[in-house]
Amino acid sequence: MSLTPLDKPVQFLKGVGPRRAEAFQRLGIVCARDLLHHVPRRYDDASTITPLARVEVGMDVTAVGMVKNKGIVPTRSGLRIFQAVLQDGTGIVTCAWPGQPWLDRTLQVGDRILVTGPVKFFHGRQIQPREHAVLERASTAPSPTPTPGPQSPATPQPAPTPPGTIFVTYPASEQLPQWVLRRVISLNLEQLLRHVGDEDHLTPSARRALGLPDLASAFATLHRPPSLDRVDAATRRLAYDELFFLQLLQARVRYHATRARPGIAFERTNELIRALHDSLPFTLTGAQVGVLREIYADMASPHRMNRMLQGDVGCGKTLVALFAMLLAVEGGYQAALMAPTEILAEQHAARIREFLAGLPCGVELLTGSATGRRREEARARVAGGEARVVIGTHALIQEGVEFDALGLVVVDEQHRFGVRQRLALAERDPAPDVLVMSATPIPRSLAMALHGDLDISMIDELPAGRRPVATRVAGPEKREEVFREVGRRLDRGEQAYVVYPVIEESEKAELRAAETEYDRLRSGEFAGREVALLHGRMPADEKDRVMRAFLAGEIRVLVATTVIEVGIDVANATVMVIENAERFGLSQLHQLRGRVGRGDRGGLCVVIPGGTGSSTRERLAVFARTSDGFEIAAADLRIRGQGDFFGAEQHGHGTGLRFADILVHGDLVGPARERARGVVDGDPEVAKEENALLRLVLERRYGERLKLFGVG
Ligand code: ADP
Ligand code: MG
Repeated sequence: MSLTPLDKPVQFLKGVGPRRAEAFQRLGIVCARDLLHHVPRRYDDASTITPLARVEVGMDVTAVGMVKNKGIVPTRSGLRIFQAVLQDGTGIVTCAWPGQPWLDRTLQVGDRILVTGPVKFFHGRQIQPREHAVLERASTAPSPTPTPGPQSPATPQPAPTPPGTIFVTYPASEQLPQWVLRRVISLNLEQLLRHVGDEDHLTPSARRALGLPDLASAFATLHRPPSLDRVDAATRRLAYDELFFLQLLQARVRYHATRARPGIAFERTNELIRALHDSLPFTLTGAQVGVLREIYADMASPHRMNRMLQGDVGCGKTLVALFAMLLAVEGGYQAALMAPTEILAEQHAARIREFLAGLPCGVELLTGSATGRRREEARARVAGGEARVVIGTHALIQEGVEFDALGLVVVDEQHRFGVRQRLALAERDPAPDVLVMSATPIPRSLAMALHGDLDISMIDELPAGRRPVATRVAGPEKREEVFREVGRRLDRGEQAYVVYPVIEESEKAELRAAETEYDRLRSGEFAGREVALLHGRMPADEKDRVMRAFLAGEIRVLVATTVIEVGIDVANATVMVIENAERFGLSQLHQLRGRVGRGDRGGLCVVIPGGTGSSTRERLAVFARTSDGFEIAAADLRIRGQGDFFGAEQHGHGTGLRFADILVHGDLVGPARERARGVVDGDPEVAKEENALLRLVLERRYGERLKLFGVG
């Protein structure tokens, strides 16, 4: 496809020129299309704009008016205050910007400006704007005075802004002020809108099915909204486009991983699966049965499985994975289980050996700590095929251990194991099926947006009779009492964690730090007890030693940072105190709390916030109230937004989601995914003529990433 008028460099647009082009580029606007995509960051309509006559002390207002006069007012303290008197059809009000005398140079008499901020009392009413924007420059404004609305005798103060007028505010910069952007956009908008229709990849019938506007009217609405409620529908269209192209990228990755080469169609004899079933002292939960059905179906198909298994700590994921491994073994293959730490690998191995005791299925633990002949013998059993289930850390795969016939790889704690490592597995021959487990459950729409290359199974039910970890929020003044309670548990022979947000104290933030508190607790509250410190900056073998000592009960109190989130399962540890809890995401707190829910003695988690802010209290109350990881993740999403989730998962690559908000547009993820997968199933390289437009936009958005994943 050739270049279109939308590819025209920004400098050739009306009203720009080479000098301003640079300022545009700094805002990310390089070509005409970018200008179209540079949509307002806020909208104010007449209903949110307060007529100046109605501005009252104590309000927080958004107002629009013309600068009638202005000047700098010195004060006795030396502070220089810039003041401007605004006028609209209803009256006048003073605006004051303490300490910003330079505004005298940027604001001119006759400018029409929009201000937002609190109204204070200072020789009368005074707006102190947090934000302001020049809507029209005095010299360029067609008519500097706003048209007053119709006056009726019943309302002595006429509306200053005609009903229906909407003020848009663009993301601007110092070099590129609001009024310049507004002018350039209004000079070019018509023309740009004429061309953007050619880039609409949704047919009218597809649009109707999704209830979305066409691309040209979406952009027209965003830049020139006829009413505020239309903005949402237009945003939804752009949100869909973002989600769709993200899914298209991920569908390419998925195709590459699951379809590019034949996978294994495992044959089920039921010999091992039935025996495990019969030996279980409990029945599987409905959720476990449901996800097993999905997994078995994937494994029976000739395509590779690329599936994520989500569920709270303790919901029985590992057992589900074990059944999947047995299916692989029944089919004549080996299965590998990779854990994030050696200790966890050992714990998995011990448990799995117990489950499989007496069954004809060799289990091998392969970790870095085994050396010499033992290691060689273990490797030989894996290469020779005697070992059917092999357990280790991620090094199992990364260091190229030789297998006889590796058919299934299960990855515990998938976030340590990224898309590229998963793709590397697809290069093996035969390419093993992949099941990744995550104990950080998230809402399905978010999971699908983040992991479009994976299919998702969720266990949303805990085995009957599980006691949730009792959770309390305690004010800092209760700290002593909390530690006394921990002491009583220690006296009963139980073990404890105390978790801190940072390792060392710093001047920047007043946070309790693990190192300092370790010293304090050792000689204070926990004097005479076995206390140890654990954090991420300790050498690996030192960390390992401490964890083993805690596991063995030689250490009773572990003072730690979030390193304990994964990597240790100690049933005797029943109590956890988390300091400066406001510093953690709710999902992270939940993950931490999972560490004391392992035994049958009823875990206790006490979170101590550093401050008393009401938003902190509200968040922690959610955490204390529910033990459902999905609900907690949804709350995290509501409170902190999706940035954290995408940031963590994409390792800083960013997803480019500017319009799509999973909370608002979550319902679009499924349809976007279905369509993307449909496109790729019919045209794996997205290279057919009929998909030329999709290819073009995909490359424009994700060119780099396509290359990174090797699917370009
Ligand atoms: P996860 O891996 O999700 O944290 P596990 O598979 O380790 O959970 O299971 C946690 C504990 O619950 C294990 O001791 C396991 O044997 C047990 N368990 C698993 N499924 C059930 C079930 N359906 N009923 C009762 N206990 C179960
Ligand atoms: Mg587990």
